[in-house]
Amino acid sequence: MATLITDDCINCGACEPECPNNAIYQGGCTWEKDGVRQQALRDDYYFIVPDLCTECVGFFDEEQCAAVCPIECCLPDPDLAESEDMLISRARSLHPHRTIAEPFPSRFRR
Ligand code: SF4
Repeated sequence: MATLITDDCINCGACEPECPNNAIYQGGCTWEKDGVRQQALRDDYYFIVPDLCTECVGFFDEEQCAAVCPIECCLPDPDLAESEDMLISRARSLHPHRTIAEPFPSRFRR
């Protein structure tokens, strides 16, 4: 499942630079997909774009946003369950010029 940032967010911004997929944005900020600017998903707190989140599969063995969040408000989204296969496929799609070979880091394999 994609990771989400809950309403407990204190807007510290610690998570944003840690994401390997540039999936995290400050509230109110636009973001980009396939070269097209997209509206902010929320205005009040940092948010994660689900289509850009791989739960860090392919890069790390734990979600980096969750690892640095001082109040533990980066949590698995219970409404967006995704398999490791889906997430590694997304990681490879988001980084076409990077080789992500087996065995790759994954929270599923910790
Ligand atoms: Fe980015 Fe990983 Fe957090 Fe997803 S779980 S938003 S890929 S840091």
